[in-house]
Amino acid sequence: MTKVLALAGGVGGAKLVWGFSQVLRKDFSVIVNTGDDFVHYGLNISPDLDTVMYTLAGVSNPVTGWGRNNETWNCLDAIKEIDGETWFALGDRDLATHMIRTKLLNKGLTLTEVTEWLSRKLKIHTPILPMTDQLVTTVVNTEEFGEIPFQEYFVKYHFEPRMINCYYKNIEKAKLSVNARQYLEEAEIIIFCPSNPWLSIMPILAVKDVVSLIKKKTCIAVSPIIGHDALKGPAAKIFNEMGIVPSGYEVARLYKNIINGFVLDKRNVDEKEDIEAMGIISLVTDTIMNDGSNKIRLAKDIIDFVTKSNKGK
Ligand code: GDP
Ligand code: CA
Repeated sequence: MTKVLALAGGVGGAKLVWGFSQVLRKDFSVIVNTGDDFVHYGLNISPDLDTVMYTLAGVSNPVTGWGRNNETWNCLDAIKEIDGETWFALGDRDLATHMIRTKLLNKGLTLTEVTEWLSRKLKIHTPILPMTDQLVTTVVNTEEFGEIPFQEYFVKYHFEPRMINCYYKNIEKAKLSVNARQYLEEAEIIIFCPSNPWLSIMPILAVKDVVSLIKKKTCIAVSPIIGHDALKGPAAKIFNEMGIVPSGYEVARLYKNIINGFVLDKRNVDEKEDIEAMGIISLVTDTIMNDGSNKIRLAKDIIDFVTKSNKGK
């Protein structure tokens, strides 16, 4: 069976990752962005890893897409009473994950090992691989506040500041873990999930050796832009701040030197020709994943698309 590996951020990525995990069972793995990771109240928090983990374990919050289901907020309420920092919402059940992660990292385990351990406890069958075990921080350079760490931009300031650019602090020291490298080497198809290009996918691509390894494979990106908007988060806003009208075509253009194929939402069908003119084959389909059957259908559509286009070669 063909091995498929996805690159993913948090909420948008996790939806498609769940779809693939249902369709492929084995032969599927995911590398997750860790540029959002930060330390808060002394705890090591990996928001995108947690979102993917909770989604695959079936314990994510169905309304927000992030955090845990059946959550309570007693700790956060108590912090509020004592007048602490409450801009980052930490649920009681979610806190358990951060506490255990911090304990295991302090014991000397790598983030890859900790994620493997948590995944086993949560009975997840898909290998979830952090993009690196080294600490990398996405830093957003904003017009209003200058350079701020990603979580402040995203959560504290609700991505309202104007992004001038961003970079991934410490990326030059980031290495692929042994496991991530092995899964990457073995995979034949790489799926760029419909995650934020600059804040979720590009940090992974910036880790040493990732691009050279995936360039040998069939790489398919899925658009996070529907029409001219993002379903969530700042992807469309960032395009606008760069003076570019957001579209599927523009997402394909960002990845054009790496990808072979692109999955475009049916609302962007007019862009298909321009995408193919860049030498990128494209699939037009409904990419909105608002329930389990949509996620599974999209994953199947993508597998069919890759299988058929590989046969045509
Ligand atoms: P984050 O780390 O939680 O911000 O999530 P990601 O970076 O993985 O995904 C954010 C992107 O997912 C946004 O640009 C959304 O437009 C996109 N997104 C969310 N849900 C869907 C969906 O159902 N379909 C598609 N095509 N994109 C989605
Ligand atoms: Ca994220």
